[in-house]
Amino acid sequence: MSDMIKVSVIGASGRMGSTVCDAVEAATGLELVGRFDQGDDLGDLAGADVVVEFSVPDASPANVAHCVERGVHCVVGTTGWREERLARLRAQIEKAPEGTGVLIAPNFAIGAILMMSFAAQAARFYESVEVVELHHPRKVDAPSGTAARTADLIGAAREEAGLGPIPDATEHDPDGARGARVHGVPVHSVRLRGLVAHQEVLLGGEGEMLTIRHDSFDRASFMPGVIEGVRRVGEHPGVTVGLEHYLGL
Ligand code: NAD
Repeated sequence: MSDMIKVSVIGASGRMGSTVCDAVEAATGLELVGRFDQGDDLGDLAGADVVVEFSVPDASPANVAHCVERGVHCVVGTTGWREERLARLRAQIEKAPEGTGVLIAPNFAIGAILMMSFAAQAARFYESVEVVELHHPRKVDAPSGTAARTADLIGAAREEAGLGPIPDATEHDPDGARGARVHGVPVHSVRLRGLVAHQEVLLGGEGEMLTIRHDSFDRASFMPGVIEGVRRVGEHPGVTVGLEHYLGL
């Protein structure tokens, strides 16, 4: 029994958290030891080796800090991890027990990770790129973490290739009414009943358009990535952003 990975879930009553609890219980080599939600005392995290955190953006940094201080690895799906929060976490992890690892993944669906990777590759060849993210109407944040991450990766790929940021293709956009810009990439957020999590990256060139699209129809699509994160987070000390780093992409 000693080589079982003990897992606690924070946000365990939520849509993602409860699906993660079921997935952990069904996975070989993992043992669900704790379920925590708003108002619970996290204490020693029920003796977990790894915590999976799917709560709300305002609560996530304190929850993750609680884990890190105790040397408990953390796999985080909650959105809202912008640069200043990451910087604070990196400082916290330096003071944490050696070897502590945190994985922050805006999207755990393998297809979504491939979609982001393909989009970053393609953005080197197009000067006109826009992102349309489509989600269920209960989603609290916009634009989605996946859209922001896609824009990050597009920017990084273009920088690596010695290209500038995506130029603004819009001649007419009174008061930014066409939607948000993330690293210069226009992002459009659709909230519609019946949707789960979907994204299109549209790349336009002379007389052509390339569309890269991913659809999550069910929260089950995120579970293989979450379980892979739980198994691998102990091998990656420090803060890792994006599951792609665990998948060799
Ligand atoms: P949800 O509202 O169904 O669940 C959130 C849960 O967190 C609730 O049970 C709530 O009570 C709990 N909570 C609130 N404050 C808390 C606190 N201080 N401590 C502990 N728990 C607290 O939301 P959801 O759909 O499960 O999504 C959760 C997060 O995961 C969101 O940020 C969402 O955008 C993100 N998400 C990420 C992925 C991914 O692949 N990374 C996929 C889907 C959703």
